[in-house]
Amino acid sequence: MSVSNAAASSADRVAWDLRDLYSGVDDPNIGRDLDSALKRAQAFESAYRGKIDVPGGSPADALLAAVREMEGMSEQMDKPLIYASLVHAAKTDDPKHGALLARTREQRTVINKHLIFFDLEWVKVADEAVRRLLAEPSLARYRHYLEQKRAWRPHYLSEPEEKILEEKAVTGRAAFVRLFDETVASLRFAFEHGGRTESLSLSQINAHLYDADRGARRAAAEGLTSGLRDNARLLTYLMNTLVLDHRSDCDLRHFDSPMGPRHLANEISASVVDALMTAAERYHGTVQRYYRLKGRLLGIDQLADYDRYAILFADMPSCDWPTARDIVRESYEAFSPKAGSIIGEFFAKNWIDAELRDGKRGGAFSSSTVPSVHPYILMNFTDKLRDVMTLAHELGHGLHQYLSRGVGYLQCDTPLTTAEMASVFGEMLTFQRLQQRYSEPRVRLAMLCSKIEDSFATVFRQVVLTRFEQSLHKARREQGELTTEQINALWLAANKPMHGDVVKLTDGYAWWWMYIGHFIHVPFYCYAYAFGELLVLALVQKYKQDGPAFVPRYLELLSAGGSDAPHVLLGKMGVDVNDPGFWELGLRLLGDMVSEAEALQGACGLE
Ligand SMILES: [Zn+2]
Repeated sequence: MSVSNAAASSADRVAWDLRDLYSGVDDPNIGRDLDSALKRAQAFESAYRGKIDVPGGSPADALLAAVREMEGMSEQMDKPLIYASLVHAAKTDDPKHGALLARTREQRTVINKHLIFFDLEWVKVADEAVRRLLAEPSLARYRHYLEQKRAWRPHYLSEPEEKILEEKAVTGRAAFVRLFDETVASLRFAFEHGGRTESLSLSQINAHLYDADRGARRAAAEGLTSGLRDNARLLTYLMNTLVLDHRSDCDLRHFDSPMGPRHLANEISASVVDALMTAAERYHGTVQRYYRLKGRLLGIDQLADYDRYAILFADMPSCDWPTARDIVRESYEAFSPKAGSIIGEFFAKNWIDAELRDGKRGGAFSSSTVPSVHPYILMNFTDKLRDVMTLAHELGHGLHQYLSRGVGYLQCDTPLTTAEMASVFGEMLTFQRLQQRYSEPRVRLAMLCSKIEDSFATVFRQVVLTRFEQSLHKARREQGELTTEQINALWLAANKPMHGDVVKLTDGYAWWWMYIGHFIHVPFYCYAYAFGELLVLALVQKYKQDGPAFVPRYLELLSAGGSDAPHVLLGKMGVDVNDPGFWELGLRLLGDMVSEAEALQGACGLE
C-alpha cells in the first residue's frame, strides 16, 4: 500500500539516513557485496558438500567453521537486499528502487542455491552424533540454531519427494493462495450512505466501521456482507481446497494435529497453547463488561457487531513530532537509562523515517538490517495521538533488534510468539506517560478505550479465530467439502462465546470469515498474537511487582534475541509459560483497564 498524501506534517524532513548501509543506489559496494557473497557461496559448497553428513558426524571444528562462514556470507548476501527494500519502501515510485530490489532478490536466489545442501545434510546426521556435537563447548554459540533445524527432521520426506512437492506447490497451494489474494484485492464494496453510493476496497469499507456515525457503520457492514456474499462460491471453494491441502501435508509429514507444524515453527508446545486459549476464554465476562460500557458511552442499548470499533469522540488533541519524540524518549528513559540512550540514538542519528512523502509505503515497521549496522524505522507521522503509540511500538522493536545484534545474524530474530514482546511493552510504557500528560478525563477515556479495543483484538479475537480454524479443519476431515452455510455456522458458533448476549451478531456477520487472509496464508497463525500480547501484559505486571530488579533481566532477555527457545529465555526471567496460572496475570490487567474505563466514564459525566 502506498500513501499519496505529501501534506505538511510536523515530521517534515524527519527522514532516515541510510548511508550506514550504502552511500546510495549507485554505490559500487552493492555489486561488490553480491559478487563476493556468490564467490563465498561457491567456495562454501565445494568445501563442505558431502562433509556434513558423514558417518559419526563431521568434526566439531569443521562444523563450527562452516556455520561461521554461513553467518558471514548470509549477512553479506542479505545486506544489499535489505537496503533495496528500505529505499523502495521510502519511495516506491522511483523505478531505480524497484529495479535494485528485483536485482538483489534474483541474486540472492542464485546464491542460495549453493547453500541449500547444508540444511539437508545436517538433518540427516544421526541423532547420536548430533548429541555429541551439540555438547561441544566450541559450538555453544550456535547450539540453538543447529538444534532448531533438527526439530523438523521427523517431518522431512526423501529428497526426491521433497523436490516433487516443492515443484508442484507452485501450481497447487501457491496458485490458490495467489488467487485468493488477487480476488480479495480486487473486490469492490458498495457503500450506500447519505444518499450517495461509493465503490470501496476492503480496507476502505472496513475503515467506516470506526465511524462515529452509526448509520455509516451499518451501511459499511451491509456493503461488506453483500460484497462477500457475491463472491461466496469462489471464496468457499478456496477455503475448502486449502484446508484439504493442509490436511494432506500434515498426513504426509506425520503431524498428528493440524496445528502441529505451526507449534513447531513457533517453538511452543500444544499444551501451552491450550492453557493460553482456555485462560483467555475464562475472561469473556471482562469482554462483555467492556462492551456494556461501550454501549453506554455510545448511547446504544443493544450493541451490534458493527458498533464494536466506533470511535468515541471525533475531537481529540493532536501531538506534534517534537512532543511525540520527547514523550517516547522520556518513557523509555524512565524505565532504563540504557534503553533511553539507545532510543536517543535513533532520533539523533536519523534512523527514523517519519515524514509523509508521495510514493512512500503506508503503515510502519522496524527493520533489523544486519548486526554490523543497526535497525531503521519507517512510519507515517500524521500528528495524531495514535501515531505516538506507533512510534513507541516501532522503537520497542528497534530496541530489541539493537540489543540482540550480539548473538549474530543467524540467531538475532525471534519466533513469532516473542517477536512483539518489546514493541507492546514499549507501547505500554508510553501509554502510561500519555495518560499523565493528557489528563483531561475525556481524552484519557478515549485513549484507554482504544488501547482496550486493540488488546481485545489481539487477545480474545485471535483465540476466536483459532477456535474457528480448529472447528473448520475438524469438520472438513469428518464431513468432506463444506458448504458456505456450514462454514458460516462454524464462524458464528466460534464468535458467540466472546460476545454473549451483549453484542448482537447480525445475520450478515456470518459471512465475515471470508476475507481473513491468515487462514489462507498460514494455518493457525493467529494464536501467536494472543500469546505475545498476554506475555507482555504479564511482564508489565511483573515490572509493577518487582520494580527496578526487573529492568536488567528484561534487557538481558531482549539481548538474547532468538538464541534459545522462548520458554527457556523467559524461564530466566522467572516466567513459566507452562503454568496455566501465568496467563491470568495479563488477563487480570485487562480487567483492571476495563474497571479504570468504567471509573473514567463517571468522571466524564457520561453516565
Ligand atoms: Zn510490531
